[in-house]
Amino acid sequence: MCLACVPRRHVLLGAVAAAAMAGTAGAAELVSPDLRLPLPTGVALTLDACGGETDWRILDTLVELQVPATIFATALWLDGNAAALRVLRAHPALFQVENHGARHLPPVLGTHPVYGLRPAGTLEAIRTEIEHGGAAVAAATGRAPRWYRGATALYSPAAFGIASSLGFTVAGFSVNGDMGASLPAARVAARVGGAPDGAVIISHVNQPHRDSGAGVVAGITALRRRGARFVRLDEAFPAPVG
Ligand SMILES: [Zn+2]
Repeated sequence: MCLACVPRRHVLLGAVAAAAMAGTAGAAELVSPDLRLPLPTGVALTLDACGGETDWRILDTLVELQVPATIFATALWLDGNAAALRVLRAHPALFQVENHGARHLPPVLGTHPVYGLRPAGTLEAIRTEIEHGGAAVAAATGRAPRWYRGATALYSPAAFGIASSLGFTVAGFSVNGDMGASLPAARVAARVGGAPDGAVIISHVNQPHRDSGAGVVAGITALRRRGARFVRLDEAFPAPVG
């Protein structure tokens, strides 16, 4: 396990977790790792592709402005978005594709929904979710991923060991740009555009019908205007995961 890659973990306890989990049992055991860049300058834009469609507002902007990004894609999304995958593959210097799981099942034990999603539920199902997600990225891109971000970015503690045993480091974040593609564009633009040096930003690239995507575009543009240096995770963390 590369400890430097997961410098801090927040254990969600008490009222915060209860609110986040809508009062589900076991919420106190879930973890969301924090991740920041070990670089004096730069920001990492990470975009989750959970399922569904492609937000071309974002993808086209990244290509047009030549902004590097790390895309966390599920097998589901890769299967259903061939045109977007072609764009990702056509720009290997811009896009690093990593593992967001096979079926977008939260890597969480038990049966209680996590943000409305059914969790993987068991150790074996978590392993399958991570392993098959990684295999799908490798098959789609020709490159084996080494980062994993689970659906909802909340984890049962046991998921970290499983991910590590499969060769993955869990990718946290430090700036939640769009709160699950739920925020209005202006708020997303402020959060993404205001990300400080060293930030790992999370947003979504699979919700083309939501307002939040326009905010991601505005935030990227603002960061560019500010002169921010965008880095992919493999540039920020070049050491192999052990
Ligand atoms: Zn997701």
